[in-house]
Amino acid sequence: AHETLLSPLDVGRLTLPNRVIMAPLTRARTPDSIPGDLQAEYYAQRADAGLIISEATNISPTARGYVYTPGIYTDAQEAGWRKVVKAVHDAGGRMALQLWHVGRVSHEIVQPEGRQPVAPSALRGEGAECFAEFPDGSAGRYPVSTPRALELDEIPALIDDYRQAAKRARRAGFDMVEVHAANAYLLQQFLATGANRRSDRYGGSVVNRARLVLEVVDAVSEVMGADRVGIRLSPFIEIFGLSDDEPEAMMHYLAAQLSRRGIAYLHINEPDWTGEGPQLTDAFRRDLRERFRGVLIYCGHYTAERAEALIADGLGDAAAFGRPYIANPDLVERFRRGAPLNDPDPSTFYGGGAEGYTDYPTL
Ligand code: NAD
Repeated sequence: AHETLLSPLDVGRLTLPNRVIMAPLTRARTPDSIPGDLQAEYYAQRADAGLIISEATNISPTARGYVYTPGIYTDAQEAGWRKVVKAVHDAGGRMALQLWHVGRVSHEIVQPEGRQPVAPSALRGEGAECFAEFPDGSAGRYPVSTPRALELDEIPALIDDYRQAAKRARRAGFDMVEVHAANAYLLQQFLATGANRRSDRYGGSVVNRARLVLEVVDAVSEVMGADRVGIRLSPFIEIFGLSDDEPEAMMHYLAAQLSRRGIAYLHINEPDWTGEGPQLTDAFRRDLRERFRGVLIYCGHYTAERAEALIADGLGDAAAFGRPYIANPDLVERFRRGAPLNDPDPSTFYGGGAEGYTDYPTL
C-alpha cells in the first residue's frame, strides 16, 4: 500500500495511528523538576500525535545542565510523570520518556553540592552554555565549566542511573523510553572523537566509543523490552564545541548494533535543523535504511510536504515535529485538513507558565 504521513505505523510493540511524531522539546517549566497538572494538560492537548516524545528528562541530579527541567530519579517526579502519562492515555495518546544526561554541558552552579560536571574526558565544550539560577534568585545562560573525566569504575553506576530511570518510567506508565544520545550531550560526547580522549575500553576506536551507548541501550532494554526502546542520534551536528572526525563510521556501526538488538526506532536529529549546517544526503539515509531494520524517524524543520516525500521515497518511516508542535496542539488535524499552522513564539519557548504553552488555539 502507499504509505502517507497519516497512515498507521508499527513501532516495536506499539501501533501508531499516524506518523506525525511530537519531538522532544525542552520547555523549562518545572521549577522543582516535578511535572504537574500544567504538563499533563500540555501533553494531553497533543495526544493526537502518533507518538509523543517527552522533553529531555534528567536521569540523576548530576545529569542536569539546565534548571527548571524535569527529572525521573525521585518518587515525586515519578508520580508527576504518572499523572502526565495518564492524561495522555486518557486522551487516546502514546508517550515515550526521553532519558537525558548533559555530561559536560553543565557547570558547578547547576550541579548537586557544587560538584564538577562529568564527561568522557576533561575537555570543556567551548562556547557551550548551560542555564543556571544565581544566588540572587535570577536565572540565565552561563558558560559551561571544564568537566572531570569519569573514572572507569564509575561507569557501572552511570549505567545504573539509566536503568533506574527506565524502571521509574515503566512504573509511571510510559509506553517507551528514548535514549538521548544526540545534541552533544553525555552519550554523544562518548561517541565523538573531539570530546572523548579516553584510553580505556570506552575510548579510542569506534567500537570503544560506542560501548557506553550500547550498554545503556542494553540496560534500559532489560527493563522495558527492546521493542519499547528508541534512541536519538545527531550525526554531523556541531554544537556546544563538539567535533567528530568519524561520524559516518560511527553511524554505520551503531545502526548495525542497534538493529541486532531489535530496538523499536532510531530517531535522527538532522544537522541542519536550525537552518544551518550540512544536509543529510539521500545516500546516507538509504545506507541507514539498509543497516537498521527498525523504524526510522527524522527530525529537522519538516513540513507536511517534506515528511510525505520522505515516506513516499521510502527513506524514513515518520517525521518528528518540534516547533510546529509547540504552536499547534492539533497538528495532526491541521495536516489532515491542509489547514494553516499557528506560528510559535520563541519568547515563550522556555520558562514561565501556561502562556505560550497550553494556550495555542486549535482549529
Ligand atoms: P537557548 O540557547 O535560548 O537556551 C538553551 C537552554 O537554556 C534551553 O534549552 C533552556 O533549558 C534554557 N533556557 C533558556 N531560556 C530560558 C528561560 N527563560 N527560562 C528557563 N530556561 C531557559 O536555546 P535554543 O537557541 O533554542 O537552543 C540552543 C541549543 O540547545 C540548540 O542547539 C539545541 O540543539 C539545544 N537544545 C537541546 C535540547 C536537548 O537536546 N535536550 C534542548 C533544548 C535545546
